[in-house]
Amino acid sequence: MNGSGASLGQGPSDPAITLKGYYVLQKRLEGVHLFPEGVDSLIWTPQKTGIFSIKSACLELAKASPHLMPDPIKGIWKGLIPPRIEMFAWLALLGKINTKDKLARMGIIREDENLCVLCESSPENYNHLLLHCPFSWKVWNSWLSIWNLKWTFPPTIREAFDQWKFINKGCFFKKVWAAIFFILIWTIWKERNARIFNNISCSPSQIFELALLRLRWWISGWTERFPYSFNDILHNPSCLMWVDSSSALTTPKPPKQIIHWEPPPEDHQKWNVDASVFNSPHRAAIGGVLRNSKGNFTCMFSSPIPPIEINYAEVLAIHRAIQISLRSQPTPNHPILIESDSHNAVKWSNDDNGGPWNLNFQLNFIRRAIKGGKVRIIHRGRGSNIVADLLAKQGHTRSDEFIAWI
Ligand SMILES: [Zn+2]
Repeated sequence: MNGSGASLGQGPSDPAITLKGYYVLQKRLEGVHLFPEGVDSLIWTPQKTGIFSIKSACLELAKASPHLMPDPIKGIWKGLIPPRIEMFAWLALLGKINTKDKLARMGIIREDENLCVLCESSPENYNHLLLHCPFSWKVWNSWLSIWNLKWTFPPTIREAFDQWKFINKGCFFKKVWAAIFFILIWTIWKERNARIFNNISCSPSQIFELALLRLRWWISGWTERFPYSFNDILHNPSCLMWVDSSSALTTPKPPKQIIHWEPPPEDHQKWNVDASVFNSPHRAAIGGVLRNSKGNFTCMFSSPIPPIEINYAEVLAIHRAIQISLRSQPTPNHPILIESDSHNAVKWSNDDNGGPWNLNFQLNFIRRAIKGGKVRIIHRGRGSNIVADLLAKQGHTRSDEFIAWI
């Protein structure tokens, strides 16, 4: 035991220190009673059973060094997302993920290689990468702007998580809100890895759509009753405030029926129109396809429009279809049917008044066309509108309107 525990910095040959160590040991052994007839065994004294457990070790460590033990993180292990992503979130909140900043400190990469791959302007530490990076910020903001929320993010992802609460929106939405936190940080992390390891990059809006796609996918693990598709969420995120009829008195929408396109009557032409609105960046587009009673395409349009609420955009799609028909339809005497999957847009069009005041011009134009007897506007579900939906989405990529008569 020469110098054991007491010889630090002095060397074991220092007689004063050696003597002190001896007395320390003697003092400790005073209370020890040996039982020569017993069998030696290891006993973990913090547990009554004498058996070691991680939990008791952590508790002992926390008692001995409270400043070293982080607060326990509550609210991760809820089964809302796959376990590997829960594990990632847990490590991220503890700052244990292998960001470039950490790898540089460990000497695995060079100090000058620690720039964030998303913005290439700041060192990549976990708080920057997942929260403060301008790229990540846009992704977070895409979600917050849906709900008209402004949030000054706290300094750390851990504090952001502790503040990530949304109240009074029902049981299902609370799950959505909790899950999206993990989904956003996971999707940002995957994008970071795709850029580093695969040289593939996406825009913040694409990352956000991917996050919504993951959300929809994992919602199917919570319940099979959620009636909305990924496209529904993309077009109208408020459907995430769905209330499960089995757990509340509120009646949800009836289950979706498969709706197929049906041809118009003989000598009629039918427009299917649709709109598409993205929230980040905020942009909108409309599209429509005109078909005859044989189902042949006779005209189509696809057009970017100023950013606008989805139902308003649907009104503009109806308005544009009528305009195109009245101005340039080769067979102007054929009555026109217009199908839209926006219940609101159809109702506003068919009512004598009402609707958004800033669409008065377009709605009055539509109403005059209906009163003229040549145009009828009906509501029909999304299933009959697939081509129009695609044309509307294509409108986002166009700089100006595309119209083609076939
Ligand atoms: Zn960055």
